[in-house]
Amino acid sequence: MSENIFKKFASEKGVFKDERVLLPEDLPGALPHREKEINEIALALRPAASGGKPENVIVVGPTGTGKTACARHVLKQLSEYSQRVLPVYINCWGISTRHGILNKIASSLGEFVPRRGIATDEITERLADVLSKEKRIPIIVLDEIDRLLASQYGEEKVLYDLARANEVFGVGVGVIGITNSEEFLSKLDPRIRSSLAQREMKFERYAPQELKDILHERAKLSFFPNTLSDEVIPLCAAHAAKMGGDARIALSCLWKAGRAAEREGVAKVSEAQVRAAFAEPEGIDMEKFGEMEKKIIRVLKERGELGSGELYSALKTKETDRTVRNYLTRLEKLGIIETKEREGKKGKSRIIKLK
Ligand code: ADP
Ligand code: MG
Repeated sequence: MSENIFKKFASEKGVFKDERVLLPEDLPGALPHREKEINEIALALRPAASGGKPENVIVVGPTGTGKTACARHVLKQLSEYSQRVLPVYINCWGISTRHGILNKIASSLGEFVPRRGIATDEITERLADVLSKEKRIPIIVLDEIDRLLASQYGEEKVLYDLARANEVFGVGVGVIGITNSEEFLSKLDPRIRSSLAQREMKFERYAPQELKDILHERAKLSFFPNTLSDEVIPLCAAHAAKMGGDARIALSCLWKAGRAAEREGVAKVSEAQVRAAFAEPEGIDMEKFGEMEKKIIRVLKERGELGSGELYSALKTKETDRTVRNYLTRLEKLGIIETKEREGKKGKSRIIKLK
């Protein structure tokens, strides 16, 4: 009788020990080259561990520089250390209204709020009420916080609400705002700005050597020994450095190359497999795009997310609106960008960002 095919699969080890370590959702236990940044976020939050008011922090830096990972890391450590904090993580790309954010905070505090049919002011009142009785200090991470400014309905008012929670109820709510946008702070009302950015931190792009160190650490956990050819890590690091010092790109290249090695059933990941990984959309290989598409990608990379009108003017192009739209459709189909509809006073419009 021939061998059971699944048994055979199971006996082939492949290259991965644990590939989940390379995926964006994984929170690394250690974050090399971010000790200083982690320390600074922790210092800002330290008062919360003993029931005091933490400092609010704004973290600014390009994509893939470890902003989200560092914030999550500090929150995790803080909640392991102290029972007095309540971490609430919100990605404002997912929850982008004042109503939604207050709702999420209230429900994290154990307050039941119906999703619909309740006015925002009422949530604010209920939240104030719950907060005044709450012993724990909520630490609210608003990731991609610049998204709140994209709406014409003043969703950023939620930032007043959070600042006000401190003054009026004496509750030490802490806010960590994270953004890719260098201009975010200057777009805010000065009154919110000063209370939100008690500390402002910049995350720099990773240098090639730093990316190598990061990859080495992750590779130890994700691959079996001796399954990477010598060039693999330096190549992934160099590529990611060229693509904006982005650790996400570095890790995704390594993961895709590992995947290819498993698919091809070889014992070692090769240089060719890494190069093939560069060509896949997530690592965005610019060579396969036309001039206009490259321009769109660069603008979005630089500016974070934009409304279609803003994008159009940032492109400074002679092409028609419609031609640009066609490019956008193609980029969206390729999984390079994503677009969302937003409701404004002038009707619906679209926001565009890199995926
Ligand atoms: P950002 O929020 O700045 O866009 P992320 O925190 O999402 O960046 O980081 C992108 C990816 O790179 C994540 O998978 C994260 O775990 C990983 N990463 C970032 N910095 C480091 C680091 N110093 N060490 C290990 N992994 C890192
Ligand atoms: Mg992030």
